Amino acid sequence: MELTRKQMLKLMGATAAGSVAASLTPSAAGAAAPAAGTPRVIRRDVCVIGGGSAGTYIAVRLGDLDRSVVVVESTGRLGGHAETYHDPETGGTVDIGVVVFEDNPLVRRHFDRFGVELAPIGGPGGATSYVDFRTGRPVDYTPPAPVALPRYLELISQYGPIDTVFDLPDPVPHDLVAPFGDFVEKYDLGSIVPLVFNYGQGLGDVLGLPALYPINTFGQGVVRNILGGSFLTTAARNNSLLYERATAHLGENALLSSRVLRVDRSGTGVRVLVATPDGPCLILAKKLVVTAPPLPRTFTGFDLDGHERSVFGQFISGAYYTGVVRLSGLPDNLSLDNVAAGTPYHLPPLPGLYGTSPTGIPGLFNVKYGSPSPLSEDRVRRNIRADIERVAAAGTHPLRFEELEVFKSHTPFELHVRPEAIAAGFYRRLNALQGRRHTYYSGAAFHSHNSTRIWTGAEALLPDIAA
Ligand SMILES: Cc1cc2nc3c(=O)[nH]c(=O)nc-3n(C[C@H](O)[C@H](O)[C@H](O)COP(=O)(O)OP(=O)(O)OC[C@H]3O[C@@H](n4cnc5c(N)ncnc54)[C@H](O)[C@@H]3O)c2cc1C
Repeated sequence: MELTRKQMLKLMGATAAGSVAASLTPSAAGAAAPAAGTPRVIRRDVCVIGGGSAGTYIAVRLGDLDRSVVVVESTGRLGGHAETYHDPETGGTVDIGVVVFEDNPLVRRHFDRFGVELAPIGGPGGATSYVDFRTGRPVDYTPPAPVALPRYLELISQYGPIDTVFDLPDPVPHDLVAPFGDFVEKYDLGSIVPLVFNYGQGLGDVLGLPALYPINTFGQGVVRNILGGSFLTTAARNNSLLYERATAHLGENALLSSRVLRVDRSGTGVRVLVATPDGPCLILAKKLVVTAPPLPRTFTGFDLDGHERSVFGQFISGAYYTGVVRLSGLPDNLSLDNVAAGTPYHLPPLPGLYGTSPTGIPGLFNVKYGSPSPLSEDRVRRNIRADIERVAAAGTHPLRFEELEVFKSHTPFELHVRPEAIAAGFYRRLNALQGRRHTYYSGAAFHSHNSTRIWTGAEALLPDIAA
């Protein structure tokens, strides 16, 4: 559905269904409807942009608070980074996006309300072979016991819940702005680096990033769940169940495969013009909640002011890709972990594979690939195959790459800003946008790449959004 600019402006100016329809059908009754179709007007308390973890949670909870809501989601499904592969041959499922949740009353309540059973994640099981995917050669490596974990927890606790909201001390402590590698050296935390790297897949150059980001991802909640062995996942190994049931719950209030064309926040509320598969619709809401990644491209058509533009324009995106590969010749319970010979802490340089891991389905392995910046999807597909085939070519494992069954780009990922921006108060300016111009923000860039933290952070915003 394409609208001309003139049609869009007319629609944005209309305030009632009748006048919206009239703006598109100016001629006498019976005249052919314009190609764009007759727009609907939807009036709600809140319009949520993006139906991933944050957007879905906020929409459901606003309903609990007796607020009417509509979610605008650009893809054909809710869930965003939570995604599940269904193997057509065995009927088995593989969560190729979000896997674990912290054991937390809010998590249990959210899954409970949709009748989705949770279970302990359990240990990794099986065996691990350490391979340098640059050469395909095995590496003689044993991961260090993470003995520094309790000390790390104590150190990061001084900053408060910065895994939930980037509410940083003023001035921002140098330790958070300096590279995480410096933090590790200063406090002798080398034993936890491989754990932070692997838990923080998608972070990119963990040692080179400002320490704020690894500490945000590998935060207090995560460390407590590691120490307590309490991480949860769905008993059915299908996290998408949560989002399928939330989609049914939201019904016509979830506008899927829909695209924001214009946002106008100049009046007493917000007006959002959306292209939906059923034609254009104009949402008139009191408040807007943006949960899609806050990059300039998300805000195409928005009436951003200079302040908003200057804040969102500073975000830099990392990149994270996942998939399921069919391999023959590799034991079904064997993981291949990428560790590098001759690098600090044996961390593999990125772009590169994090590794392959068993899925529980014979012949199928989960792959994860990271890059400090976005790459073309074709290049990543080729690299995944080449990295794995190098292992066979080096004679390390007699495997054969049969097929990339499914491939998903989870990019943009891990939005971050330069250290100077953090020091200059970027996150104070970002948080000051909450509530400004009838607009609130949630999602990983405002909390953490962690659904438990996102939902916890969203709960703190809900009273203001619902007010
Ligand atoms: C492979 C992978 C594994 C992960 N594992 C875990 C895990 O085990 N545990 C955990 O807690 N977290 C995990 N995460 C982190 C995960 O990112 C967060 O938990 C959470 O899902 C992020 O939610 P979000 O709502 O911020 O973003 P998303 O889930 O990305 O949701 C944003 C939504 O907005 C939509 N959108 C984008 N642009 C627009 C637009 N212009 N208009 C309308 N809609 C738009 C997107 O389609 C998407 O549905 C993982 C992430 C990945 C990629």
